[in-house]
Amino acid sequence: MEYISLSDYLKEKYNTKVYKLSLTSGCTCPNRDGTISTGGCIFCSEGGSGDFAAKGLSIEKQIADAKSLVDSKISSKIPPEERKYIAYFQSFTNTYGDQERLIKLFDEVLSFKEIVGLSIGTRPDCLTDEMVNYLSLANKNKEIWVELGLQTIHENTARLINRGYELNVFEDAYKRLTDAGLKVVVHIILGLPGETEDDMLATVKYLATFNPTLFGVKLQLLHVLKGTKLSEMYEENPFHIFELEEYCNLVVKCLKLLPRETIIHRLTGDGPKKLLIAPMWSGNKKLVLNTMRKIVAKS
Ligand code: SF4
Repeated sequence: MEYISLSDYLKEKYNTKVYKLSLTSGCTCPNRDGTISTGGCIFCSEGGSGDFAAKGLSIEKQIADAKSLVDSKISSKIPPEERKYIAYFQSFTNTYGDQERLIKLFDEVLSFKEIVGLSIGTRPDCLTDEMVNYLSLANKNKEIWVELGLQTIHENTARLINRGYELNVFEDAYKRLTDAGLKVVVHIILGLPGETEDDMLATVKYLATFNPTLFGVKLQLLHVLKGTKLSEMYEENPFHIFELEEYCNLVVKCLKLLPRETIIHRLTGDGPKKLLIAPMWSGNKKLVLNTMRKIVAKS
């Protein structure tokens, strides 16, 4: 089966492969700092659901470091002046905190010529009008994606995972963002404890109803990571963890439910290997990609 991957979209739009630079905004999260709760979502590791970006460095240094990391993998056939990047703020809640500081930070990032867009991971309950207005204006020059961690539409699961907001909060944020012309990417998790396959597919069907404004979806395999509440639950009462092929088959079902034009930003996701408890196969990126490719191709 065919679908539009993020790299297809970027290649078509920018006429070259575009690379992501993982950056950190210095934000925390209201679901961890005590504003909503102190525990955070039960699957969230200490790195705030993104354990790759450097902390405590200036944004110029972060960009330089992230670029040299990425550049080491880029073919020397693409000269440095032709390379393009998306700045990606994934960890924690990147619109939470001093709005003036964050706007200045995003402005600074967007001032780099080679950075063609900005991807901001956040919570739907952390979007001030000031931020939405700023992002909407910035979006006129370079593309801005706002990534909302929905995970599930089911309120009982949302409570179990301590998401800390209800579905109508997501709906309101989605509307405000799309009304402002912004591109929204929705992050969902497959394999949350207590959810059946039908529950997961219901979340995907729900997202499909947002078309034509649904820009992107990120499908994330549930990872059980060390040091999380989820790992304690898993040890006390092990719940079902997907086998690789089982997961790939489910992903195919999800892709079939989504509108053809929705951009698929991710099919699995890889957690930090040093923290991974289950499923261990997800640490073998090559195996996962090859198996996924085969199963998607024959579907
Ligand atoms: S909202 Fe994000 S950063 Fe905050 S606890 Fe949940 S997963 Fe972690």
